[in-house]
Formats: sequence, C-alpha cells, structure tokens
Amino acid sequence: CKIDYVAPADLLAERIILVTGAGDGIGRAAALTFARHGATVILLGRTIAKLEKVYDEIEAAGGPQPAIFPLNFEGATHKDYHDMAETLDREFGRLDGILHNAGLLGRITPFEQYNPELWDQVMQVNINGPIWMTQALLPLLQASPDASVVFTSSSVGRKGRAFWGAYAVSKFATEGFMEVLADEVEHLGTLRVNSLNPGATRTAMRVTAYPGEDPNTLRTPEAIMPTYLWLMGPESRGHNGQRFDAQPK
Ligand code: NDP
Repeated sequence: CKIDYVAPADLLAERIILVTGAGDGIGRAAALTFARHGATVILLGRTIAKLEKVYDEIEAAGGPQPAIFPLNFEGATHKDYHDMAETLDREFGRLDGILHNAGLLGRITPFEQYNPELWDQVMQVNINGPIWMTQALLPLLQASPDASVVFTSSSVGRKGRAFWGAYAVSKFATEGFMEVLADEVEHLGTLRVNSLNPGATRTAMRVTAYPGEDPNTLRTPEAIMPTYLWLMGPESRGHNGQRFDAQPK
C-alpha cells in the first residue's frame, strides 16, 4: 500500500496511458490524476457524454490533450480491439500504460438464483473483454521503453465471499491472468503487469453493493490515487506479477 506516496508533478510526463471506465468513479479520478501528472490519457468507456466531461475537465486544467475512445466491453469484438490497436498505433505509436478499471458488479445474490445471462455479462466486461483488448494492444506496450499494465481487482478476488457470484469469479480470473501475463513478459524487462485492489471507495458501484452504508465513511477515489500513480510511474519498475492494495487493510 502506497497511500502516503507523493508523486512528483511531472511523474507521467510524455506517457500515453489508456484508462478503461474513465467516465465515472475511480476511473474518472485516475484519468484526471494521470493527466494532472503530465500523461496523455486515452479515455475509454461506454457513455460518451461522461467521457466528454472528463475530457473537458482535463483541458480546462491545462493538461495534455486527451483522446476519447468509445467502447462497450459487452458488444466489443476481436476486430474492434484490433481496429483500436491500429488507431492508437497511428495516433501515438506506443502505449506506456493501461489501467484496466471498467467493471460491472452484476448482482449480489445467492448462487442458486444467479441469472446465467448476467453471469456471462459480468465475465465479459470484467475479464474476457479486457483480456482480448490486452492481446491486441501488446505490440504497442512492447513499443514502450517502460510500460505498466494495472488490473483492478477486489478483496473478493483474493478470498471468495458468499453471494458475490460472477463478480468475485471475474476478479479471481483477473488475478490469475495478471500472473500468467506477468510471467510471460518478465524477460522483456520493459513491461510490468500487476493487480490493484482499490479497497472500499466512495462510488456508485459501492453504493449498489452496500446500500446500507454511509458513503461518507469511505475514502474518495481521489484519496486512493497515490498507489495508482506509483504503479503507473517509473518508480514501480521491477515490480511484476504482484498484488497491491490502494488502502491500508
Ligand atoms: P463505477 O460503477 O463507479 O464505475 C465503473 C466504470 O466502468 C464506469 O465508468 C462504467 O461506465 C464502466 N463500465 C461499466 N461497464 C462497462 C462496459 N460494458 N464497457 C465499458 N465500460 C464499462 O465503479 P468503481 O469506480 O467503483 O469501480 C472501478 C473498478 O474498481 C471496478 O473494476 C471495480 O470492480 C473495482 N472496485 C471498486 C471498489 C469500490 O469500493 N468502489 C472496491 C473494489 C474494486 P458508465 O459510467 O458508462 O456505466
């Protein structure tokens, strides 16, 4: 946990970083924070109006001009990911970071009542989509001298919990895929792959999961950014295949 990490203002200067689910919650805070530290941020998400708001905020704050990439993991195909790679290659020529943050909660419900279509939907958005997007973007990550891929996990991706169904399973798969990919790229020395559990954070998803909780008792997305910055910046070089937490446990 790097909650006390203080990032230099220019930590991410010259870096091109893709953030998925950048329109809301933690992804929105990460996109704004990365841009404030000098990154050119590619804002990916399914609701264009939200991405445009983040875009405008970055511009208004004088950050590097971001890019918007509309994509819904539910319907996206392999061709979409390869078209995306081609576009990003043409525009930027490389990628220095991916924050896999987009996520779907599904339903907190006993497994015997879990709807199979919803299960597939959660797996699609939380793990299958991100996996194939990563495959298509690997050449761009390899074109960077120092690239960091961060997968967003959860405490239920490290220890299973009753009623968390597809969400928990998708996060276990996220941890597993992170380890497989990290091991495969270890020899490169220029690409690191890690997972990050944000911990309880004040967002719409958290309210849905814990409707009885007072959101004011939780850290805001902005407050958990130190670990996100550390993982995206050069100081985390050499850390590969590891599980991090953004908050003290
Ligand atoms: P939010 O629900 O606030 O934000 C999720 C983001 O993902 C939104 O921008 C949403 O877009 C996007 N998204 C959802 N479905 C899709 C899709 N099909 N295609 C593209 N984008 C999509 O959640 P949080 O900010 O709380 O969560 C961010 C990450 O952190 C998730 O991976 C979550 O599992 C994880 N996490 C969160 C915790 C918390 O306490 N908040 C705790 C542990 C883990 P749109 O706004 O358009 O719906």
